Amino acid sequence: MQAPYIDLHTHLFSPDPSVWAVRNFHQQEKHQAEEFQGPISIGLHPWFVEEGSWEADWQWLERESARKEVVAIGEAGLDRLQGPALSLQEEVFLRQIHLAEKCRKPLIIHCVRAWEELERVTRKADASIPMVLHGFQKNVAVLERFSDQGFYFSFGEALLKDGSTAQKALCAAPVDRIFFETDDGAHAIQLIYEKAAALLNRELPEVQMLIHSNYEKLNKWITGTGWPERNY
Ligand SMILES: [Zn+2]
Repeated sequence: MQAPYIDLHTHLFSPDPSVWAVRNFHQQEKHQAEEFQGPISIGLHPWFVEEGSWEADWQWLERESARKEVVAIGEAGLDRLQGPALSLQEEVFLRQIHLAEKCRKPLIIHCVRAWEELERVTRKADASIPMVLHGFQKNVAVLERFSDQGFYFSFGEALLKDGSTAQKALCAAPVDRIFFETDDGAHAIQLIYEKAAALLNRELPEVQMLIHSNYEKLNKWITGTGWPERNY
């Protein structure tokens, strides 16, 4: 049997039966998250954290995080270019690390130009859950820094650009800690797998099996049985 194309992080709906996707919803998409019939990740996205109202969003996240369809918390994290003051972002991010730890689910991380802060907060949290840096496209030095801390890396459409830092980072990443994703991009996940297979010098089915077994490692953290069904 051929392993599905696992898309670890997407904001878009794909009815393609060869894809097993983790759909992401943030705090402004509560209703969609509650209705969705399939694996999801939910979190307080740093762009939409607002002083004064995030506590209400927190109640929602805490309540919904227990659902079996929720296979990861996030995307959560830090963004120097968008969202409220970094001090508030850090507070909300740290709480989400603790929540992920409490409900034993992996954490999907969004980080833009706040790598020092990310390292400090995650070291302070000292969590044992798997943490995935999504949309990774930084250089090998940043990859190694977080690889040493045990992070996973999810690569997206930046891989399609020849000579990109994302391509170099993929080739330097520990293969047992990589994933692929479409995020909100226009490219099919199949295309990203094909590019990755070429870069890693492996056959496509071998890469699909590799990502499948990497996902099994994340999944074993989740209390419950097996992978959630997709009912669409
Ligand atoms: Zn995203």
